[in-house]
Amino acid sequence: MTDAQVPDRRAADASLALTTSASSRRLAASPDYQSAMNDAEPAKREGGRPSRWTSIRAVAMTVLTALIVGFKYLASLKFLLLPILKFLPLVLKTGGTMVLSVAAYAMLWGWRYALGFVVLILIHECGHLVVARSMGLKVGAPVFIPFMGAFIALKDAPRNAWVESLVGLGGPLLGSVGALACALIGNYLESPFWYALAYSGCMLNLFNLIPIGTLDGGRIVTALSPWLWIVGTLVLGALLIVHPNLLLGLVLILSLPRLWSLFRAKSAAERRYFEVSASQRLLIGTLYIGLAGALAWGMAACSVPPPAAPDQTAEQAVPGAADPE
Ligand SMILES: [Zn+2]
Repeated sequence: MTDAQVPDRRAADASLALTTSASSRRLAASPDYQSAMNDAEPAKREGGRPSRWTSIRAVAMTVLTALIVGFKYLASLKFLLLPILKFLPLVLKTGGTMVLSVAAYAMLWGWRYALGFVVLILIHECGHLVVARSMGLKVGAPVFIPFMGAFIALKDAPRNAWVESLVGLGGPLLGSVGALACALIGNYLESPFWYALAYSGCMLNLFNLIPIGTLDGGRIVTALSPWLWIVGTLVLGALLIVHPNLLLGLVLILSLPRLWSLFRAKSAAERRYFEVSASQRLLIGTLYIGLAGALAWGMAACSVPPPAAPDQTAEQAVPGAADPE
């Protein structure tokens, strides 16, 4: 809302109050109302009790007045109701899946930590969203998948590797700012809980920087060299051997088609897609390596593991003190 709109709004409220009281006055001055009142007078004079017809008219007038006043208030609330209705699907989709994710992670770490973690994921996704929108791409609202993270659907394909790379960088960049904020709060409050959140935030964003097809890192390196996808595949493969889990396996499988595309002949349009200027490549390379280094350092500096689930250990009173293994 702009400053100029504030007096207007007050004026609208004042005029609404005026119309409401004026309509009561008009109602009092209307012939029907007057005759209803006049009809009531003899009834009072005759037996002290109004006739049934008079009572019905009095009730009808009250209901009518209430309807008029109510309708005027509803009309004035339109400016509030319309945005709520417009954003309802978004609130249900993002908000609903967020609540589900918090509930899922709460089983692992307790609800406070789960909430913090899901908010860190949201900040990361908002980074993609902001960059994609600023590049003129249509994007969907973030959708959360319990235990998997979240995603935003790009409704427009990036025009070239440079745009894809920037959209990929947006998430880890803003996500790292979120993790840094947690570390600063942890430092200020001397709280292991916030350090543990900062640690998870760093890990989450660093993991996403692995240069493999479906992860942000895979998108970022399209502007450096798509051949780095092989490095990402090796890193993820090694992680999978050390720490086998469904999420890592799924990322590896989903990234295979893009990896395979490295080894087939490319059309002229595909080759144009990967054309990036030297200065763009330098900027992306510096940001990518700098961010990965900063996140690795952040993990080492805030190495407090997440708290255990409330019913798993007696150490629940000290978040972050429990061993996650
Ligand atoms: Zn991301």
